[in-house]
Amino acid sequence: MKKVLITGAAGFLGSHLCDRFIKEGYHVYGMDNLITGDLANIEHLFPLKEFEYFHHDVSKFVHIPGELDYILHFASPASPIDYLQMPIQTMKVGSLGTHNLLGLAKEKKACMLIASTSEVYGDPLEHPQKEEYWGNVNPIGPRGVYDEAKRFQEAITMAYHTFHKVDIRILRIFNTYGPRMRVNDGRVLPAFFSQAIRGEGLTVFGDGEQTRSFCYVDDLVEGIYKLLLSGYTQPVNVGNPSECTIKEIGQEILDLVGNPKAHFVYRDLPKDDPKKRKPDITRAKEILGWEPKVDRAEGLKRTYEYFKKVVKVDEAVS
Ligand code: UDP
Repeated sequence: MKKVLITGAAGFLGSHLCDRFIKEGYHVYGMDNLITGDLANIEHLFPLKEFEYFHHDVSKFVHIPGELDYILHFASPASPIDYLQMPIQTMKVGSLGTHNLLGLAKEKKACMLIASTSEVYGDPLEHPQKEEYWGNVNPIGPRGVYDEAKRFQEAITMAYHTFHKVDIRILRIFNTYGPRMRVNDGRVLPAFFSQAIRGEGLTVFGDGEQTRSFCYVDDLVEGIYKLLLSGYTQPVNVGNPSECTIKEIGQEILDLVGNPKAHFVYRDLPKDDPKKRKPDITRAKEILGWEPKVDRAEGLKRTYEYFKKVVKVDEAVS
């Protein structure tokens, strides 16, 4: 039985990955320090003998007993509000955490997959973004702690590959959504869904004409699984190239939820908010034979089912 360590196991993506690797017959070690994760996302796995949970901060030395085949490093605060509230932890988990896990991968001869991000492209001057693009990042802006930690993460991972021959995968994740997103994490879809369900104003930042390209979580997990097994050691964009403005997706959510009290309200655009973002997924198609299957209408419907259950109508959005 192959053994995989998943960091950030109690988070949105980490918990879906735990489910997938259990389903594929792996032994899964889930690790989290719960600063943004929630054990409710993985509590259904606790009775399984194939699943073991470690409460640990990966920016401290990481020990796993016995053999290990794969490490998937998904621990990190992951929303712009989180970076503002936890800038140092964000930097540490991407830098020190990655270094510790690379040391573990080297020791165990395990393959290390890192969760990099479209944020390595910053506020991109090229559109759509190809893996060859080097990006446009403000190192000292509010997003710098995340963007630069992830850029460092890619650099040190590549260095361990070239210098220590550690087997690596570099996944660049674009905006992803689905069940188990944290209701109050400040990202646009949890915010819009909870506001629409409560009949409040949907907080559009700026004029809402900035674009994103949203990928449903099941598609992303499939791309990650394929990348891990591919043997490919260069960065790969995994995301859905279907681009829309923030106002468009807001309108889709208003229509889906159908709450007559919900409406748009406008707030200042946060500093360094990227104006356009869309992955070029040619490489993922060619190397992995992967492309997203769930369109936005279907993905939003499934996500709405989740938020209906977890959003408390009498609670204000923070
Ligand atoms: N956004 C918004 N209202 C919100 C939260 C976010 O209009 O309540 C906008 C934000 O300014 C950005 C986009 O939605 O342009 C996506 O934001 P998110 O925080 O989800 O992720 P990002 O892609 O910026 O990292």
